[in-house]
Amino acid sequence: MRSPRVPLVLAVGLAGTLAVALTAPAAATASAAAPGPKPVSNSLPKVPVMRGGGGAVSSVDAVASQVGIDVLKAGGNAADAAVATAAALGVTEPYSTGIGGGGFFVFYDAKTHQVKTIDGRETAPSTFTQRAFLEPNGTPMAFDKAVNSGLSVGVPGSPATWDLATRSFGTQPLGLLLRPAENIARRGFVVDQTFHDQTAANAARFAKFPATAKVFLPGGSAPAVGSVFRNPDMAAAYRELRTRGVASLYAGRLGRAVVDEAQNPHTAPGVSVPHGQITTADLRAYRALPKAPVHSRYRGLDVYGMPVPSSGGIAVAEILNLLEAIDQRTGIRLGDLSNADYLHRFSEASALAFADRNRYVGDVPNVPSSELVSQGFADERACLFSPGTALKRPVPFGSPDGSYSSCGPTATTSRLPNDGQSTSHLVVTDKWGNAVSYTLTIEQTGGSAITVPGWGFLLNNELTDFDFVPLSPDVPDPNLPGPGKRPRSSMSPTVVLDHGRLRLVAGSPGGATIITTVAQVLTEYVDRGLPLVDAIAAARLSSRNGVEQAEPALMSSPDANALTAKGHVLASTPEIGAATAIRVIGPDDFEAAAETVRRGGGSAMVVNPR
Ligand code: GLU
Repeated sequence: MRSPRVPLVLAVGLAGTLAVALTAPAAATASAAAPGPKPVSNSLPKVPVMRGGGGAVSSVDAVASQVGIDVLKAGGNAADAAVATAAALGVTEPYSTGIGGGGFFVFYDAKTHQVKTIDGRETAPSTFTQRAFLEPNGTPMAFDKAVNSGLSVGVPGSPATWDLATRSFGTQPLGLLLRPAENIARRGFVVDQTFHDQTAANAARFAKFPATAKVFLPGGSAPAVGSVFRNPDMAAAYRELRTRGVASLYAGRLGRAVVDEAQNPHTAPGVSVPHGQITTADLRAYRALPKAPVHSRYRGLDVYGMPVPSSGGIAVAEILNLLEAIDQRTGIRLGDLSNADYLHRFSEASALAFADRNRYVGDVPNVPSSELVSQGFADERACLFSPGTALKRPVPFGSPDGSYSSCGPTATTSRLPNDGQSTSHLVVTDKWGNAVSYTLTIEQTGGSAITVPGWGFLLNNELTDFDFVPLSPDVPDPNLPGPGKRPRSSMSPTVVLDHGRLRLVAGSPGGATIITTVAQVLTEYVDRGLPLVDAIAAARLSSRNGVEQAEPALMSSPDANALTAKGHVLASTPEIGAATAIRVIGPDDFEAAAETVRRGGGSAMVVNPR
């Protein structure tokens, strides 16, 4: 249900913050000793699980979660709090999200019991052709070359998403909700190990772009842990959006600055990078799009996710449907298996779903979405499953043609798509029972590495989510570059209802591993009976029809040997995903949960802890 409009209460709540913001000096940089205002901090503790009422927020960052809590406390609803939290993450997690990126916003309206979504995906320019990522000789461009370039920059969708979300679902003006982000950018926040490490890991490519080095490598290197990081240029960008509206990006001076930099990135001496193609006309044409969610059923629950151009909703639904189909075929439920057998089923279901996703899902007409998420299709696909032996990768894709009686003719794609690594996910519930599950990104950690001069935010490299060349010469590829096209995503913001009532919201960053992470968290919680925070903390496996990644805790467990004995080929990877979730225990009784360790641990908060 939409909360009543209470601008006065919220205005008072955030005006105190703004007053501090307006008195802050405008030229500070990262330094523990730097004079200046006190950095912004959180008043609730940074913990991975918290229970209580009044609403809940979970994100990767305590300062950002606190912003959402403050908005809820001041009378805003879940959509308001989600937008304010997202904007704050743009400041404290600038390598994962921000003004220069895009994302997918899922809203549950407690009054109508409906789930609605916004597709805020970045979009290719009108001149972008199928050959955009080919060298003149027709070979695909090196991935890193494409990432660190203006060419990979899509029209940003996040500000348009925030604008549409607040107008469609919120109760507060966007200008008010952007104030905390502006304030954090101006006053600064204390650098933690994760921020330091992400900066250090990207220092070499950041140094290629002087505007990026100026903001994110103050003094030439990554800010020290414990120092204060301020970004007055980004504060100016939020102020611009706050006072002039998102039109400044889509039809104004902020947009011109984005286009100028993407078309002709300023580079360090001796560095040259491919130029971008986006124009002010592309920005003017951009729309965040309201879309109906993907819906499927799992264990009697209603699962809602993002439709195309994300593959997240479809692939998560197919994995879950396959797990139900395998229960049926074997007569043994997922919850009754050993952990190794559970992981075997999960891996096989994931590989099958990825085969179908890669073959059928992209920003093209006539994606067979409803067939892909149908139980009939999953039942047919499950005929390939064997309890004792892993399927040989790559597994073939299926035939979602509405006629499901046999295993059917199948074929494989020979290559795998590129995978990103970054992004951020946040979840919010409010005391009225509304909820948001929102994943937002600039693609790689650090995006294109190009900062818009004078405005302090990084531009995305989302267009590298397109397949540069078809995955197989003889199989249609729905994810090739195209004019005005949105690259396929894996983002999987998810809402789960139980008989029309909100039960759970969840999601994760992690490129293509997002899909497996969300499906694993759901099954660990729903089927394996783990408490939500343990379902999030559980060692992860990401099987994507080629590479099968496992976290070290899994690699060193007996489960890894059992999986290997069945023919799985596991590759150790330090960390998969960084999930956040909230479960509803009862009316106005929430448990917010986040990572205990990954990415330095997340931040779960409620308005009134109990
Ligand atoms: N670009 C990725 C996607 O849309 C997200 C980036 C990431 O999480 O690494 O699927």
